[in-house]
Amino acid sequence: MPYKNKGSIIRVSIPTPYPIGDVYCYIIREDPITIIDTGVDTPEAREAWEQAFKKHKISFSDIQRIILTHGHSDHYGLAVWMCEKTRAALYLHKNDWKKVMDRKAFYEGLLPLLKQHGIPDSYLETFVKVLTWEKRFCIDIPEELLNPIEDGEEVKFKYLSFKVHHVPGHAMGHIILMKDNWALSGDFIFAGFTPTPVLEKDEKGERVKTMLLYQSSIEKMERKKLKRYIPSHREEEGDFENALKAMKERMTRKESVIISLLKRNRECTTFEIIKELYPDHKPTGIYVLASDVIGRLDLLEARGIVGCRQKDGLYYYYLY
Ligand SMILES: [Zn+2]
Ligand SMILES: [Zn+2]
Repeated sequence: MPYKNKGSIIRVSIPTPYPIGDVYCYIIREDPITIIDTGVDTPEAREAWEQAFKKHKISFSDIQRIILTHGHSDHYGLAVWMCEKTRAALYLHKNDWKKVMDRKAFYEGLLPLLKQHGIPDSYLETFVKVLTWEKRFCIDIPEELLNPIEDGEEVKFKYLSFKVHHVPGHAMGHIILMKDNWALSGDFIFAGFTPTPVLEKDEKGERVKTMLLYQSSIEKMERKKLKRYIPSHREEEGDFENALKAMKERMTRKESVIISLLKRNRECTTFEIIKELYPDHKPTGIYVLASDVIGRLDLLEARGIVGCRQKDGLYYYYLY
């Protein structure tokens, strides 16, 4: 049954200061009333929640559970405020806890990695400035507020339940909530654009190949027969199969640009590829762009098309 006919899932569009625009959060008006994602902590976002609750005659104290699809600022920035107002229990997959407990430290830990991929110091300084700016509307979550949510768990209501699927890739702690053949999907899949599996390190400080994990998560949800998705941005609802088709086409176009660049230049750093693939890029977006390009290179490497070697502290990619 598509969610629109269920009547108990309310979409709340929360403004964000990011180019992506609003984030869609959801109120599941069942017993217990549950919120999926919170948006960022700005006066406009708080106002949007207050208006939504007023419109649907819900009070903050009615909310008993808050589930975060993943630990990205546009989804959890307001979580501490929401917890204070509602006293609800907050859930997030453990893989994203570090990220939300001290966001700036987590991302600053990635600076050496970006440097190894040829990103110039001026860009890295901009990245740090962006992290400082984001602190205003993305409030770190103290560990004592966090509760784990895991793959395979049931999110139970009095008359319905959702299955939690862990879909690492875009974020290592990304989950989606599935019911029948549809899911509240967060940033897992969109028809119009590809969610970037962003750079992350594991416990040992090694880079995680998030794009390869994302591919596995997509395959997993194909096996689980996901059909319809209700995402966190732009589209209201989408068809999983169509979105995958569009994503594969975009992927092939970008891969051919990378391959022809490597043919012309023998070897390139990630930054040199960014300049070719995104000539109008801005330094403020460097983390996402570097993640995108490194992810595509990981895929090409996994298929035996591209190799990577380290020289003078930098990673260079070449064609086999
Ligand atoms: Zn995200
Ligand atoms: Zn998002």
